Amino acid sequence: TEGISVKDLAEKLDVRGKDLIASLLMKGVFVTVNQSLEGELVKDVARQFGADAQVISVEEQLENEAIEGFLEDTTGMVEIARSPVVTVMGHVDHGKTSLLDAIRSTDVASGEAGGITQHIGAYKVHVTKPDSPAFGREIVFLDTPGHEAFTRMRARGAKITDIVVVVVAADDGVMPQTLEAIDHARAAKVPIIVAVNKIDKPDANPAKVIQQLAARGLQPSNQGGDTEFVEVSAKKRIGLDLLEEMICLVADISAPKAVLDRPAVGTVIEAKLDRGRGAVASILVQNGTLRLGDSYIVGNTFGKIRAMFDDRGRSITEAGPSTPVEILGLESMPDAGDTFLVMADRDKAKGIAQYRKMKEREAQLAKSSRVSLEGLAEQI
Ligand code: GDP
Ligand code: MG
Repeated sequence: TEGISVKDLAEKLDVRGKDLIASLLMKGVFVTVNQSLEGELVKDVARQFGADAQVISVEEQLENEAIEGFLEDTTGMVEIARSPVVTVMGHVDHGKTSLLDAIRSTDVASGEAGGITQHIGAYKVHVTKPDSPAFGREIVFLDTPGHEAFTRMRARGAKITDIVVVVVAADDGVMPQTLEAIDHARAAKVPIIVAVNKIDKPDANPAKVIQQLAARGLQPSNQGGDTEFVEVSAKKRIGLDLLEEMICLVADISAPKAVLDRPAVGTVIEAKLDRGRGAVASILVQNGTLRLGDSYIVGNTFGKIRAMFDDRGRSITEAGPSTPVEILGLESMPDAGDTFLVMADRDKAKGIAQYRKMKEREAQLAKSSRVSLEGLAEQI
């Protein structure tokens, strides 16, 4: 265990440090305010101040603070418009990857980076078509692995995406995973844009797709409904500008905002173990600004931002809301969907990470002992 300083414990117990020291002295323990206390002694002295269960949950308390920090009420803080975050979903082989690739390559700026495609699970596209009403704006796309984060976030009631683009192949029509994607989006209360893909194919039947989805409650806007349908071909690069415009249009309805000037909070899009670089995580900064040197807690690990990179692999020193970044130097691997939170107090971050790890181990232990008990029962 990490222990807690006399000063912090006194604060937690809501007593004067002096009284706490006096009480310890009675037990023959001589300490100063900055000294750290551990385990039994903490429990013991806390009990004396009538705070029995409280002590065990010092770290739980910290975690609650972390969660509060994440969900922090932003009333009164200055909010700015942020770029919409879009997740592309749909049935396998309907063209999600092709569409994302095609959109990405419309962005002239990304071509300038020498065509190096950095796979960090999310990327920012600048709408570069001058005659488009969305010109000059940015859209963040989550790659398909983002699904995992999306699902986990949803389970916790948190939100990572502003819009879901459901891709449906015009030659194949609505399939099981199409409906799954729609269910996902609806459960998360996220607006849906339907991209009817592969319209270049001779057997494409976009009208049928529209009909199929209208029957499932996705009425096209040009028929009095509120769902936008865009016909595209990822392969022939048809309709991509229109899709981007539609995304911006739909985003303008909810007008996503964020606070620029607060400690960064975000979500892990993906995490991997890199041979040369160790644990690497892609984070979507959702609120606040992430800066070099920031200490953070993420899932059950913690760290300090020693270097970070944008979606093109460029080293950056800060990242505002709706910015995907890659961070290095994590102690261990977080999971996709884990929340990321900057904490000025590194020890606090460490404490929470350790507490979460411990809880996870306990849960695993409980599970495995249950399994072995069941095994035993079967043998008897
Ligand atoms: P995903 O599984 O949804 O990511 O689908 P992919 O992007 O991997 O595409 C599946 C297949 O469909 C690939 O062979 C693509 O080349 C093809 N494909 C994707 N988009 C189009 C399109 O607009 N037109 C045509 N003709 N083929 C496409
Ligand atoms: Mg794919």
